[in-house]
Amino acid sequence: MASSPAILVQKYGGSSVADVPHIHAVADRVVRTVREGHQVVVVVSAMGNTTNELLALARQVSPRPGRRELDLLVSVGERVSMTLLAMAIEDRGVPAASFTGSQSGIITDDQHVSARVEEVRPHRIRRALDEGRVAIVAGFQGVSRGGEVTTLGRGGSDTTAVVLAAALGAAWCELCSDVDGVFTADPRVVPGARRLDSLSLDAAAALAQAGSKVIAADAVELARSWGVQLVSSDTRLPSGSGTRLPPGPTPAEVVGVAADTQLALLPAAAPAGLVGLDGAVRAWVPGVGALVDVRNLHHDLGGEPVATVSAVGRRLVTTPAWTARALAALDGLPVRAWWATGEGFSALVGRAEADPAQRRLHAALVEPGPAPANIG
Ligand code: ASP
Ligand code: MG
Repeated sequence: MASSPAILVQKYGGSSVADVPHIHAVADRVVRTVREGHQVVVVVSAMGNTTNELLALARQVSPRPGRRELDLLVSVGERVSMTLLAMAIEDRGVPAASFTGSQSGIITDDQHVSARVEEVRPHRIRRALDEGRVAIVAGFQGVSRGGEVTTLGRGGSDTTAVVLAAALGAAWCELCSDVDGVFTADPRVVPGARRLDSLSLDAAAALAQAGSKVIAADAVELARSWGVQLVSSDTRLPSGSGTRLPPGPTPAEVVGVAADTQLALLPAAAPAGLVGLDGAVRAWVPGVGALVDVRNLHHDLGGEPVATVSAVGRRLVTTPAWTARALAALDGLPVRAWWATGEGFSALVGRAEADPAQRRLHAALVEPGPAPANIG
């Protein structure tokens, strides 16, 4: 009996399907993976900036658009890219079929705009694979038990890919973007950032939590709990290149820096303003106020635009000399609060300071490489 081919999940981000030439390039890459003997499930994001454009359109119509309607609206973006990619793949002589989140069996709770996946019933995806098709799935969306279309929060296509990989027992889940893997910092902000060949899942989770945009934080968490083999790849390079994310703890050494710029600071004196924020409050910073994640709020909250800048590496928590080094790097910048807990160091700054603060932390903590003898 022939052994069954391995299932591979490939997710392509918005910039990888931004226009027709990009869609053709993704179709070529998918077909190449099929010809290598894999069963391929493709998860796509909306083309380019589509999601932002749809959200902006909603805001032009209503200052506080309803979340149910927002979900129906933005779920359209991924449906456009999935169908176009299916057409392009079929034209290459490889059978393909596209599926919405609901058709893929992605069952969520009913928290519109930031729904959690509760169950995956990928019967139709399996059937498509059994029929020799490439299954193309609209990322970022699911369906509630009540039959409503839901979305999984910004960046949620990564989550779709990971939950499908877990449900299908995929050998790999490849997250493809226009960046060739995970870097020690955002290379657009920090010129000295280096690509990592490998990064432990715990460290990747900490970087994602800290605001790194390479992989959605929820997706890394899910990969960790479901044991999904993740790799972060460049769409323009062959399948399998990029940064591997094997299970494992955050190392002592500083692996990277990141900033979360989607935060608003509400004064501690205004707790009434926090009603209805649905878990968006990230932290109470004593004496400073409440840090609110505005990523999935979709209405104007007010508050002061702030950012956290973080460095990930356990020695920043366990070794006072390294905490001191992080603080010294930020000397002269207006740091509102800082903490060294869990997997690393974070500081609260104004949003305008996020970029220079990342460059300073990277220069002081990552670029020097191995620790000098006197600092442990
Ligand atoms: N299109 C959605 C977003 O822009 C989901 C994704 O790209 O993963 O957030
Ligand atoms: Mg997108």
